[in-house]
Amino acid sequence: MFKALIVSKSDDTPFAASVQEIDHDFLGEKGEVLVKVAYSCVNYKDGLVLSGKGGLVRDYPRIPGIDFSGIVEASSDERYKPGDAVVLTGWRVGEAWHGGYGQYARVSADWLVPLPEGLSLKDAMAVGTAGLTAVFAIQALEAHGLAPENGPVLVTGASGGVGSVAARMLSKSGYEVAAVTGRRDSLADYLTSLGVTEIIDRAEVAEAIARPMESAKWAGCIDSVGGEMLARILGQLKYGASAAAIGNAGGVAVPANIIPFLLRGVNLLGIDSVMRPYDERMAAWARIAKDMPKEALEEMTETILLDDLPEAGQKILKGQIKGRLIVDVENS
Ligand code: NDP
Repeated sequence: MFKALIVSKSDDTPFAASVQEIDHDFLGEKGEVLVKVAYSCVNYKDGLVLSGKGGLVRDYPRIPGIDFSGIVEASSDERYKPGDAVVLTGWRVGEAWHGGYGQYARVSADWLVPLPEGLSLKDAMAVGTAGLTAVFAIQALEAHGLAPENGPVLVTGASGGVGSVAARMLSKSGYEVAAVTGRRDSLADYLTSLGVTEIIDRAEVAEAIARPMESAKWAGCIDSVGGEMLARILGQLKYGASAAAIGNAGGVAVPANIIPFLLRGVNLLGIDSVMRPYDERMAAWARIAKDMPKEALEEMTETILLDDLPEAGQKILKGQIKGRLIVDVENS
C-alpha cells in the first residue's frame, strides 16, 4: 500500500481531491518502469487538474502530478535498472495517466530522462515543467537571434514558476531582464533577487491598444500570460525580435495587429514542453545544470506535502504562488 492524492468524479458524485492509501494494482500494468517517487511539484496545469477544471482528465479516478523525480524500483526496459535516479515531465502524465502525486508511478520508459548530472532529485522538481519550459523558450529565442547585446528581454508573469526560472536563467546568461508583474508592491525585492533590473506594473501593459506599434523596447519576450498583454507586447518588440508564447494565465484570445510582423519582422514562437523529444529535453536539462544557480533554486521554492495540494492548486490558479512549489511525496 502507498499514499497518493487522488481526484475523483462520477455521474453520482461531485469532483473531489483527497489523499488515500491505495494498492499497487491502482497503477495498472501498462508502463515498463515502476518508479518510487521522491518529489513532485505544482504547475499551473496541476492547479487545473486539482480543481477539476480545464477538462484535462477524462477518466477518473486519477493520480495527478505532471512531473516527478524518483528512483527506479523495477524496469522491463533495458535503458533503466533498479536504483537509477530518473525525472519525468509532461507526456500528459497526471492527466491521461497516473502521475507524480503518488508514492509510486508506473510509466513508459520513453517518457523518462536520467536525473541530470549536477542536480538532486529535489532540484529537478524545483525546476519541473515550468523551469524546463522557460529554458525551451530561451533556446527558441536564441535560435532566432537573441543575444545579450541585443537589449533587454521582457518576462511576463514574472513571479510565477515559468517567469521566475526564466528571469534567473536569463540574468545568469548575461541578459538584461525586465519583468511584468501584478505583485510589484509585495514582490519587487524577490524579482530583483532573480536579476530583474526593470519592473513593469501589469496594469501598464494589461490591455492591447489601438496603435499597432509603440516604441521598440524589447530584444525578446518570454510570455506566460497571453491575451491582450501579448498582443500589446508584440508592438513593443525591436526589429526582428521574437516573443516566445508559453502560457495563457491572462487569457487565450490574442487580439494582435499584423503591422509589427510586416514592418518590424517580429516573430511569435510557440513553445510546447509536453511532447518534446528526448534529445531536446536532455539539452535543456544540461543548460539548467549549467546556468541555474543552486541557491537561486532554493530561494524560489517552498516545499509542501500531498495533503497541502488541494489548497496549492487553488492558489496557483489565482496567481498567488511565488516561484515554485515542490511536493515532498516520499515523506508525505
Ligand atoms: P504560475 O501561476 O506560477 O505563474 C503565472 C503568473 O502569471 C502568475 O504568478 C502571475 O505573475 C501572472 N498572472 C496570473 N494571472 C494573471 C492574469 N490574469 N493576468 C496577467 N498575469 C497573470 O504558473 P506557471 O508559471 O506554472 O505557468 C504559467 C503559464 O504557462 C500557464 O498558463 C501554464 O499553463 C503555461 N505553461 C505552459 C507550458 C507549455 O508547455 N507551453 C508549460 C508550463 C506552463 P505576477 O503576479 O508576477 O504577475
